[in-house]
Amino acid sequence: MLRVVFILGLFLACLSCTNTNDENHNHDGHEHLVKISTTDSGITFTPVSTSTPVSTSTPVSTSTPVSTSTPVATPTPVSTPQVSEDSGLFLTGADSRIPAETLAVRPDIWLCLNDVYVSDLTPSGSNNLRCNVSVNVLEDTVIISATGIPNHDFESTNGCCATEQDELWYLPRFPLDAINQLYEYAPSRGATAFTVTGVAIYGPEDGPGGDAVAHELGLYEEDRQPIDLGICGGHSGPGGQYHYHFDANCMHWHADISSTNYMFEDVDSSVHSPIIGFAFDGYAIYGSYGWDTNFDVREMKSSYQLVDGATGYGGISDYVYVAGLGDLDQCNGHIAPTPHSVEPVYHYHSTMRNGADAHGFPYFPLCYHAIPDSRNIGHIGGTGGGAIGPSDRPANPGNRRRRF
Ligand SMILES: [Zn+2]
Ligand SMILES: [Zn+2]
Repeated sequence: MLRVVFILGLFLACLSCTNTNDENHNHDGHEHLVKISTTDSGITFTPVSTSTPVSTSTPVSTSTPVSTSTPVATPTPVSTPQVSEDSGLFLTGADSRIPAETLAVRPDIWLCLNDVYVSDLTPSGSNNLRCNVSVNVLEDTVIISATGIPNHDFESTNGCCATEQDELWYLPRFPLDAINQLYEYAPSRGATAFTVTGVAIYGPEDGPGGDAVAHELGLYEEDRQPIDLGICGGHSGPGGQYHYHFDANCMHWHADISSTNYMFEDVDSSVHSPIIGFAFDGYAIYGSYGWDTNFDVREMKSSYQLVDGATGYGGISDYVYVAGLGDLDQCNGHIAPTPHSVEPVYHYHSTMRNGADAHGFPYFPLCYHAIPDSRNIGHIGGTGGGAIGPSDRPANPGNRRRRF
C-alpha cells in the first residue's frame, strides 16, 4: 500500500471554483482540425465544440499558464546554461519532428507496437490479453488505435473483467494553447488522457463521484458503490475498459513479469521519468520525476489540497488549487525542459504527492493547457459488451471550462 503523510496546511479559499458554462464556441480557431478528412475507419469527425473560446486565434501563446504560480513554471533556457543537447540528458535521434509538433509522432514513444500478452490477475480474469498500439500520423491529427490492454499484468478488481477494446484516440498534431488561461476541464469521470500503451487514463472521480485515489488511501469510506484499485493504480470499468487513476509508471516497470508487488516507490527516482501518455490536447504526460531549473531530478508535486474538512468523498469539488504549493499548475503541468526538448516546453506530470506531501490530486491532467480534440471526450471503449451505467459516464462531456 502506498503511504503518504497527510499534512494539511493552509486552507485557502477556493480560488478557482468558478465553473463557467462557456457558450463562446468559436470554431474559427480550430481550422486546422476541421480540415482533416479522416480516411480512417469511418469515424465521423465532429467539429470540436471545445474550440477556442476566444477569437483572437493565433497560436501565438506558447502561453505561460499562470504567472503567479509555480516557481518552476518559468525556466528560461538562458538560466540553465552549460547543458547542451550533447550532454546526454536529452534524447536525440529519430526526432524529425516539426517544431511545436506533438511528441506523439515519435515512434520510439510508443509501447506495444508489437503485441504484448498479459494477464488479468483478478480471479476469472483472462490470462491471454493483448496489448497492441498502432499510430497513424495525418496532416493535423495523430490517431492511435489500441486494444486498451496494458503491457503489464494487472487487476480488474470489482470491474472484472477487462476485455480488449477498439480504442481510437485522437491528438492534435500541433497543440494549440488555450488563450487567456481559459483551460478546458478534463472530464471528471471517464477518460481524460491515455497512455503510450493505448490504455485509458481516467479523471479523479469514479462511478460514485468520490476521488478514487483518496478512497484507495483510506481517506473516506465509500458507501455508494464498491470501488477498489488494483496494482498500478488501475482497474476495469464499464464495457471492460481498463484504466488508470494514478501513477501508470507501471508500464515502464517489469512489463513482462507477472507480479503484484509494484509500488510507486519502485519508480526510478534518479532520472527524469519517461513519457507515460498524452492528454487529449496533444501534450505529453511524463511520470512523477522531472527536472528543476538546474536539471536536477525531483519529484513533481501537485498544487491542490483538500479543502478544510473534506476527504475526497465529494470528488473534485473537495479540492482547491493553491498556487505555488507544488511544482505544477492548475492542469498539473508546467513549462520546463524535458529529455526531449532543450527548450522549455509545456508538459504534464503524473503526481503522487502535493507540495505539502499529502496525496497528489489530481494525479494526471485536470484541465487542458491546449485545446483538446473532443472526439476523445466522453470516450468509453466499445467492444467490451458491458453496459455503460449512467453514473459511469463522464459528468462533463466537453463544454465546461474553468477560468483560472
Ligand atoms: Zn475507475
Ligand atoms: Zn517537467
